[in-house]
Formats: sequence, structure tokens, C-alpha cells
Amino acid sequence: MKVLYIAGVGRSGSTLLERMLGAIPGAVNVGELNAIFSRVAMQDQRCGCGTPFSRCPFWAAVGEEAFGGWSEVTRRMADLQPRVVRQRHVPRMATGVASPTYLRELEEYLDVHHRLYRAVASVSGADIVVDASKSTAQLFALRRIEDLDLRILHLVRDSRGVAHSWGKAGVRKPQSADGDTMGTYPPHRLAVLWSALELECGLLGSAAPYAARVRYEDLVADPRPTLERALTDVGLAPDGWLAHVGRHSVALGHSHGIAGSRTRFVTGQIDLRLDDAWRSALPAGARRVVTALTLPQLIHYGYVGGRPGAVAERVA
Ligand SMILES: [Zn+2]
Repeated sequence: MKVLYIAGVGRSGSTLLERMLGAIPGAVNVGELNAIFSRVAMQDQRCGCGTPFSRCPFWAAVGEEAFGGWSEVTRRMADLQPRVVRQRHVPRMATGVASPTYLRELEEYLDVHHRLYRAVASVSGADIVVDASKSTAQLFALRRIEDLDLRILHLVRDSRGVAHSWGKAGVRKPQSADGDTMGTYPPHRLAVLWSALELECGLLGSAAPYAARVRYEDLVADPRPTLERALTDVGLAPDGWLAHVGRHSVALGHSHGIAGSRTRFVTGQIDLRLDDAWRSALPAGARRVVTALTLPQLIHYGYVGGRPGAVAERVA
């Protein structure tokens, strides 16, 4: 079993990427697995198949196989996760220098996730599990599981697009029945966070035996070559795997991806369109601040300053 872990910043198109990968023969996408206990099971959120988590037959079988049911492990993990896997604990996870209590709890957390991945592979019959958790803290933790074949896809989207998406107020949560809205971030804070997380993703990728970077903009504009390149870079030969991916569309069946965006519910032939509303909708002041704070990485990724074949623009 291989775990293909999508790392990156929220609102970068990870649900689309995980579903495109989950439709590959022999692969299964599970959504944002790091939310399974704290949000999805606790709040009984809807699975990608449309049914509440507690009634989804796929997740019921996974829970039964891994833990003999969800109730006990959900309570325990919802308690453990906020203590163990946090951004501020990354140095402890990376170095292993921590109190015996912390390391014991981290081992317990990782054992649960290892059992979860194995049960997902067993119930689905797939040998590639696509996890769109995105969290770099979760990824630092997962790297400690010695016999886990972890391959990293670093998904990146132009910081101005991400800032625009996080700046929109009043957007309903896809799983909400009572009008809950998505969280927001002011542009300057988002830019600092984006830079820090992108730096971590880059470090994790360069330290991993198998890693690839995918730009959201390339994925949407040129899906098949982008996926072929990424799969090759993570050591998975994509011969004949991408029949569901057209020049500007993708054919998706049902999936059991949890958490994530509304894209987890769509099925059928999906036209891929670049969401670059930020170019006209992000106010000039916010655009300048985000560009300035994230400039080194915007240049590195080819968003600013020009690069052959890139969706780029001049700084001016
Ligand atoms: Zn389901």
C-alpha cells in the first residue's frame, strides 16, 4: 500500500486533485483524513457519497475492520489530536526530542492512522490511498511511521488566488445544515501563513524519497500532462491510468472523500475551469501586500517574472 499525501494550503484545489487521483484504477481517495475524528465523525458530516458519515457503508466497514467501530476511537482521537499534532509541535515531531508522555501519545496517534490506512486499502481493494489532509503538521507526524510508503504531492496555488478565496465572507460550509459559514483570513495574515506553509511543504518534499509539486493552475489548464508528470515524479508509472482525464475535463464517479470542498459531491463529466477571479476581485491594496509578502515563492513557482509555459505575470 502506498499513501499519496497532498500537502499544501487550504483553498488550493486539493479536493479536485484528490478526486482526479482517486479515479485512477487501483487508487482510492479518502478526503482530508486528518479531520475524520475531530470533525467528520464527531459532527456526522456528509461523506462524498452524500450520506452522513455514520451511515456510509464504506466508512462503516473501515471503522469495523480497523477499530471494531468508530465510537471509542473517535472519542480518544478527538481528545488526543489537539494535544499531539499541532503546528507548534513540528520541531518535536521532526527531531523526536520530546517528553516520554508526548512521544507515547504521538505513537498511539500514528498507530491509529496506520490501521486506518490499512483498513481503507483492504475495504476498497486499492493499493494507492490518496489523502488530501494538506496539513504539514500531520505530514511531519506521518513520516515517523517507519513502514508507511508515503509519497508527497505538494499542491501550490498562486497566493493571490488563495488570499482572495480566504477573504470571502459569508460562504456556506458545504456540509452545513444550519448556515455555518467558511472561515476567513485577512490578506496579510494569509500571506504570512502561505509563505510559512509553502516553505514547510518544500522542505518536506525535498527530504522525501518520492515527491512532486503540482500547480493548481497547470492542473486545470493542462490536466493530463500535469498529472502524468506528477505521478512519474512520485514513482508511479501512469501508463493507461488517466483515461478519465480529458483535455479540459475529467469524468468522476462517486467517492467517499470526507471533509474538503463541495467538489467532493460532484459526479459525471466535469469541465475544468481556472478560478482566477482574484485578478479582478482582489482589491489593489490587498494584492500589493500579498504579492510583496510572498514574492520569493511567487517567483520560484513561476507565478511572477515569467517562465516558459507558466501561468505567469509581470510584477508591474
Ligand atoms: Zn461514503
